[in-house]
Amino acid sequence: KEATHKFVYDFTEGNKDLKDQLGGKGANLAEMTKLGLPVPPGFTITTAACKVYLESGVAPTALSDQVSTHLEALEAKMGKRLGQPDDPLLVSVRSGAKFSMPGMMDTVLNIGLSDESVQGLAAQAGDERFAWDSYRRLIQMFGKTVLAVDGELFEQALEEAKRRRGAATDVELSAEDLKQLVEQFKAIVGKQAGREFPQDPREQMDLAVQAVFDSWNGDRARLYRRQERIPHDLGTAVNICSMVFGNLGPAADSRGGGTGVAFTRDPATGQQGVYGDYLQNAQGEDVVAGIRNTVPLADLEQLDKTSYDQLMQIMETLETHYKDLCDIEFTIERGKLWMLQTRVGKRTAAAAFRIATQLVDQGLIDEAEALQRVNGAQLAQLMFPRFTSDAQAQQLGWGIAASPGAAVGKAVFDSYTAIKWSRSGEKVILIRRETNPDDLDGMLAAEGILTSRGGKTSHAAVVARGMGKTCVCGAEELEVDTKRRRLTTQGGTVIEEGDLVSIDGSSGKVYLGEVPVVPSPVVEYFEGRMHAGADDADELVKAVHRIMAYADRMRRLRVRANADNAEDAARARRFGAQGIGLCRTEHMFLGERREMVERLILADTESQRDTALAGLLPLQKGDFVELFEAMDGLPVTVRLLDPPLHEFLPDITELSVRVALAESRKDANENDLRLLQAVHRLHEQNPMLGLRGVRLGLVIPGLFTMQVRAIAEAAAERKITAKGDPRAEIMIPLVGTVQELEIVREEAETVIAEVEETYGVDLGLTLGTMIELPRAALTAGQIAESADFFSFGTNDLTQTVWGFSRDDVEASFFTAYLEKGIFGVSPFETIDKDGVGALVRSAVEAGRATRPDLKLGVCGEHGGDPESVHFFHEAGLDYVSCSPFRIPVARLEAGRAAA
Ligand code: ADP
Ligand code: MG
Ligand code: MG
Repeated sequence: KEATHKFVYDFTEGNKDLKDQLGGKGANLAEMTKLGLPVPPGFTITTAACKVYLESGVAPTALSDQVSTHLEALEAKMGKRLGQPDDPLLVSVRSGAKFSMPGMMDTVLNIGLSDESVQGLAAQAGDERFAWDSYRRLIQMFGKTVLAVDGELFEQALEEAKRRRGAATDVELSAEDLKQLVEQFKAIVGKQAGREFPQDPREQMDLAVQAVFDSWNGDRARLYRRQERIPHDLGTAVNICSMVFGNLGPAADSRGGGTGVAFTRDPATGQQGVYGDYLQNAQGEDVVAGIRNTVPLADLEQLDKTSYDQLMQIMETLETHYKDLCDIEFTIERGKLWMLQTRVGKRTAAAAFRIATQLVDQGLIDEAEALQRVNGAQLAQLMFPRFTSDAQAQQLGWGIAASPGAAVGKAVFDSYTAIKWSRSGEKVILIRRETNPDDLDGMLAAEGILTSRGGKTSHAAVVARGMGKTCVCGAEELEVDTKRRRLTTQGGTVIEEGDLVSIDGSSGKVYLGEVPVVPSPVVEYFEGRMHAGADDADELVKAVHRIMAYADRMRRLRVRANADNAEDAARARRFGAQGIGLCRTEHMFLGERREMVERLILADTESQRDTALAGLLPLQKGDFVELFEAMDGLPVTVRLLDPPLHEFLPDITELSVRVALAESRKDANENDLRLLQAVHRLHEQNPMLGLRGVRLGLVIPGLFTMQVRAIAEAAAERKITAKGDPRAEIMIPLVGTVQELEIVREEAETVIAEVEETYGVDLGLTLGTMIELPRAALTAGQIAESADFFSFGTNDLTQTVWGFSRDDVEASFFTAYLEKGIFGVSPFETIDKDGVGALVRSAVEAGRATRPDLKLGVCGEHGGDPESVHFFHEAGLDYVSCSPFRIPVARLEAGRAAA
């Protein structure tokens, strides 16, 4: 099979859709060739060849012959042979994987030069200096990347040569200097690599290809892939591309040239214009290396108008062809423009929104495609407050942008201090080398977290994202000394405990002092404090407004909010919520009302209990009236009491101490004693699996009926006195069997009928259940007999399907699980499609089989998670419900799922 497999594609054979085989760079070089753009001829060795090499340690046997065939064709086309002594064909050997991994892998330029052919190149170009400069570059790059010689040694020799000559930059070195440098470089290679620099051009090429294969598994590349979740088994392609030279002298010279990079529009804002950098008399890698100062691309118009105009035209061709922002690499050789690379360019979140709408205006893409050009994670990023951009802050360093946001606080180096200081009202940034589960409370107390070790899946990163805390991790250039409570920057600045620092979790930057924070214009817009219609409206806000409109037009899923009070409900409505999918009632039992709950729990007689319940009724009713008012005309799902009762009682240790002390003074309070008994009675080993949810309703007489009465009376009053349109839905939590639901339903219906009769109204209340236990999902067909709707409680369902205690596992072993790749993302963050998701799907099917008009939704964190929203769309749910701030994200993703 291997013998006949095609491992090599000429640039004229491929196209942009072959990224799997040709890598991004190779596929796009082929595409540009197909478009008739000036690409230096060449060919690409496929990722399949790399995979064989990585798996077996040797390249496929067929490869060498195929390379020879393509090389011969290239030589014929160029009219010279690789390394031909009197007129050498030179090539670059370039890495290029399916997903761009900037700077992670290797490229070697000027392959084909040798002691002999350097003379030929000099003669052909009529330029000794150029030829020797190219040769020294080859030995340097080859030595470093192929023969693993420490690059510093070459750098030092180069510096030394410049010093001897009194030269500020490498262009001032003469041919003679460079000749000497070549000798020195060769000596370095001989000494360090234990072999001479190869003079045979084909050997150079083959070794370079192998080095590119090997670079796939370099430390940098592996780390990058882990962070970006790029699979480790894709392998890289290798591009062999005939060399063009920008280092034949500056443009003023008639043979002039240079090299540059450009974007077809501003990747930071999306604005159209001329963006890029140009460097005269240079080879490609000089631009990125920053060895000399580049000039803005616009200056090229003065330097070489013909090439500039051609470049502008090509950029337009590329944008129209790719229908997106492209970035490019180009080189001008003796006044001739060559395209060396293009790809759809990376961009900031803000630019993504702006570019998508610009492309719609240009008629290049439609609304559905515009939705694919942005995503919920980008929108979420745009909703975080940020540092003012014009602030004059000193940057201390930077790390990995692990969890977005802008946080300012005093530096503390341990969790204990973080907690202590934050209790006394200080804002703190917790700085650690790395965090572990012991730091949880400290992380909670801090405004943000900064670590000097670990990547995007480190403990700090994972936990901070879960908490929604700003986090910068792996800032390796910052030295954290927790013992001496200080942080030292590379520049030697020392930050002591208590010094103010600012961290930007969206860019990874760390600043000294307090950088002022401004609210996000996107949130201002959602809040209704900024209008997209105004002429002078922020361009980003205008773009977001339009994209949201596309999404709303496109989506099938409705989006509701998890909101417990009128204030959250009102905000949710401003953010576009189409109802409340989860109103938790437990907060209605806290604060000053806790005492009444105590009385309920301690009641010995029916009348004591009724009194306690009667006290709670009007309070709950008041809450519901406000909520129904805020959501007038939209559905509000109210969940009856869910958490175990002991959560409403005093802490067992505190109370025990109080009672013991009182007893020693012989003035124990009767109520405290009874409370303590109750606390002991209600204590559970596994409260999450204990007396909670519907079980409470079944064993505490009157509790659920009181809540149902409060809901019904509130709805009745809204209808009658305010002429409102309340649309309450009553939801029973933690049901495992239809029998539980039947009992509660019967009691509830009696109460509702009573209220309807008393007020003389028809309330149209519906009654449904959460599906959050595996048994409920497995018997969904039966449960649907007694339920008007299902709401999947995917938090509890994930806990019970996996047997994970959410409160414990995320901090204790999830980091290890993520690192071992057992899952790529926490199942509490993104729904586990194969396990939990399969149960959701089958419950949807069974439920609808019983009751075709069954309404289906999901509440719980997954409702606002982009990937999960797509799953719920596909599973056929009617709505998702999420926290108010996630609503725009859910709307957008629901639109993208349907587009
Ligand atoms: P990277 O993926 O790191 O950008 P590239 O393979 O694109 O690596 O090459 C590194 C630099 O060398 C780039 O600036 C590129 O434009 C330049 N380069 C690559 N091949 C050639 C060539 N055949 N002629 C001239 N310059 C080249
Ligand atoms: Mg490149
Ligand atoms: Mg639950």
